[in-house]
Amino acid sequence: KEDTEKQQINELLHNLPTLDKIFEVHRKIGEGTFSSVYLGSLRRQTTLPVSERRWFAIKHLVPTAHPARIEHELKCLQDMGGKNNVISVELCLRHFDTIVFVMPYIPHRKFSEYFGEMDASELRQYMRALLVALRHVHSFGVIHRDVKPSNFLYDRENRRYLLVDFGLAQRICVAPDESPVPLNTNKRARDEMEDDSSPGAKRMALDLTVFPKKMDVSTPIPKRLACPPKVQIPKTMAIKEVPGVVAGASACPCRGAPGVCWARGCAVWAAARAPRAGTQGFRPPEVLLKWTRQSAAVDLWAAGVVLATVLANRYPFFRAADDYSALAEVADLLGTDAVQRTAEALGRRVVTSTRRAGLCLRKLSARLRRVPPAPPVSAAPRAGTCAGCQLARDLCLCPDENVPASSFDPDLVVAGFPDSAFALAARLLEPNPSLRITADEALKHPFLATED
Ligand code: ADP
Ligand code: MG
Repeated sequence: KEDTEKQQINELLHNLPTLDKIFEVHRKIGEGTFSSVYLGSLRRQTTLPVSERRWFAIKHLVPTAHPARIEHELKCLQDMGGKNNVISVELCLRHFDTIVFVMPYIPHRKFSEYFGEMDASELRQYMRALLVALRHVHSFGVIHRDVKPSNFLYDRENRRYLLVDFGLAQRICVAPDESPVPLNTNKRARDEMEDDSSPGAKRMALDLTVFPKKMDVSTPIPKRLACPPKVQIPKTMAIKEVPGVVAGASACPCRGAPGVCWARGCAVWAAARAPRAGTQGFRPPEVLLKWTRQSAAVDLWAAGVVLATVLANRYPFFRAADDYSALAEVADLLGTDAVQRTAEALGRRVVTSTRRAGLCLRKLSARLRRVPPAPPVSAAPRAGTCAGCQLARDLCLCPDENVPASSFDPDLVVAGFPDSAFALAARLLEPNPSLRITADEALKHPFLATED
């Protein structure tokens, strides 16, 4: 591994001689979908003691990334960076297709190594810093779209924070019927954005199907899709039900140009183009439901997932591998009614096989933290699946005679996290994007507004 890394560094320095001239590149410190990130220092500081040198993160963009994507990422950094916990860019170097961004380096550990150690006061500061960064980004009319711990770097020793990675950032749309303008023209990212959930998407926790609103499920889906007047097509139609529709194809299956096609009512096309860039587990319901008018609220949901992760001491918090299962997980937590109401508000319909009441995050966190201690040995084992909610027995929150109510200490269960932290999580994990709390409002929320 070390050899490959050395080879990659040598190759980078060979392809970008100016970088070699100015910087010493020490080692790889990060790797994402679109880049490799290296630790660098100035050649002219080589003789200085390590503590006195300036350190940089050198982000080498994958050469296959579309130039427009790289340009947009750079523009975001230039426009917004350097303030309010948002990463800045010091220098951008290019030689043919080799491009690097040179940014200030922030020492940090992996989130998985420290999130379990955070107490209420540290979590408060962490969330405050994240929301300050998001408020700043949103004030520029930009959605980050990939808010998650590996893009929010935390120097725990010095309590410094940096929101990084604007590779999937997007402008917030203003016109009510316009989808957000994707800044990202990288083919892979675009495919990801436009890709409908795979046709054979597994249904896991719940049997859950998403239909556009008002679809008459009894309407037979035409064998061959053609536009009116020849064949009657329902006004809106579930993408997965339409044979031959390839999401992201260059033209609608009706063979009309997408714009014309829209006027003729092939809503299939519009639905297939809803942006879905981001990371599984951090995508909000409106993205999972392929709503086209996505807003900054997308980032607030992701911030809510981060908060819930720390409260429940579970990372990843949501684990689903595809959009349907992800929506089912959200329904498990928030209840099927809440998800269905949101779907309705977004012009979608969600059909589930069972009804779920939803879970109280506070109680769930308590259970996941396994406090109170396991029931006395004499109690019947809580193995298997709960008949009531079908969750694993040790996760379910259904009343259980085997656990005496008195053993459930409400102060112990949240490991010192105040109720206001759970209340904020609920406001961030509000399924309806129009009702979700904004970054500015969240900063005024009792959990964050209280001084330590
Ligand atoms: P990608 O677009 O490939 O995900 P990122 O910008 O998220 O690239 O960087 C990938 C990783 O590199 C980050 O998760 C982080 O570990 C590391 N990294 C990025 N920027 C910095 C920085 N300024 N300081 C320290 N590490 C960084
Ligand atoms: Mg990243």
